Amino acid sequence: PKRFMDFVVVPDRAVLTRRPGTMLRALLHGRKDVEEHFAAEFRPVLSCFTTGRAAEPLPFLFTQRDLDHLATAGRRLIEICAAQPDFRMINAFPFAPHLAFWLAHYAATAAGVFQVSTGGGKTVGTEGNLRLLRKLNPDVLMGVPTFIYHLLHTAAETGVHCENLKRIVLGGEKVSDGLRRKLRDLAHELGSPRVDVLATYGFTEAKLAWAECPFPNDQPSAGFHVYPDLGIIEVIDPHTGEVVPPGQPGEIVFTPLDARGTVVLRYRTGDFIDGGLTYEPCPHCGRTLPRLVGNISRSSEIKELNLDKLKGTLVDFNDLEHVLDDDPHVGAWQLELRKAHDDPHELDELILHVHRINGTDESQVSRELKERFANHTEVHPNRIVFHDAEEMRRLQGVGTLLKEQKLVDHRPAANGLAGTAKTTDDSPGREIQSKV
Ligand SMILES: [Zn+2]
Repeated sequence: PKRFMDFVVVPDRAVLTRRPGTMLRALLHGRKDVEEHFAAEFRPVLSCFTTGRAAEPLPFLFTQRDLDHLATAGRRLIEICAAQPDFRMINAFPFAPHLAFWLAHYAATAAGVFQVSTGGGKTVGTEGNLRLLRKLNPDVLMGVPTFIYHLLHTAAETGVHCENLKRIVLGGEKVSDGLRRKLRDLAHELGSPRVDVLATYGFTEAKLAWAECPFPNDQPSAGFHVYPDLGIIEVIDPHTGEVVPPGQPGEIVFTPLDARGTVVLRYRTGDFIDGGLTYEPCPHCGRTLPRLVGNISRSSEIKELNLDKLKGTLVDFNDLEHVLDDDPHVGAWQLELRKAHDDPHELDELILHVHRINGTDESQVSRELKERFANHTEVHPNRIVFHDAEEMRRLQGVGTLLKEQKLVDHRPAANGLAGTAKTTDDSPGREIQSKV
């Protein structure tokens, strides 16, 4: 349990004391100044935790120096999103010892942007967030995509006006083009005709996140603008470990520069980027920072829920997500995994819960979804169940869970069956049958 300490930088007092720089500083400013200087560099003052759903959360320690870097990275994130110091911002990331909340907090603080943090849906509920939308009339809204979608949908339903909104900055989940379009449409309903929906990419192990710059709706994103002075990003072939040429797809690997506290070296994220790393100037903002371009898929999402075992073929949650987010008639949705009759020996079932939008009837949406699943993926939901917005909020845990759920696994644990799992996987009995 103390293994995380192996990754924390602990200075050797004797080595530091003998350094000429230390002696000079002590002579010029006194011993106390030296002590304070090293304390700011090495003493942990904040801990975040990793957020993997399957793995045990690991503490990641930040020293004051790390917090300074976090503020620098945050300020740059605000700059790249082209937010102005006179903007007002709602930070709707959940109150939790996670990177997203603290990054948003330090970003606004460092950039001098006025912010109010709501803690997402769990702390003050959707109602509390709505009240603040009305009262603050924010220019920037930051949060997890699923929650922000619910918030704006509810705001539109209840006739809230929020005509100042200019940026929606999302973190913690991927952002598909379909979701961007839906969020822009909702913002339009709230009276904000010109909103940039921007994604960020980050992870606890990097202790920072990177953002997209605003781009025209009919063009692709230029990708995540990274900071070469704060870390080294490599894109590698996951099988050989070799760095791939610029613009080639591969796994993202990160090494921080100048980090203290918990430090990782050549950390393999398990995230695959299909457009790789490019050094060309950004076509939208002209910055010459390197950029991570294209779609990122997290292999952890496939592994954690054993989705890859469905139908004996690799099922990528990322694909399913795109199919659903890109459907203009689908609002909030949730995929549920069950065993038929809740019997661990039975077949897996995939149930799709959907909230219809734009007034299309159920049979038409069912038909369309069936086609989309057939064209883009190799699985079909066994059933599609339609719900109203309120019921979807309950299913996803808006207001009750720290993070809203788009994928739930309700399969009973098959105790004692682990040894036979392999043969079960290969048997045709695992096939998911479409009843749609
Ligand atoms: Zn740019």
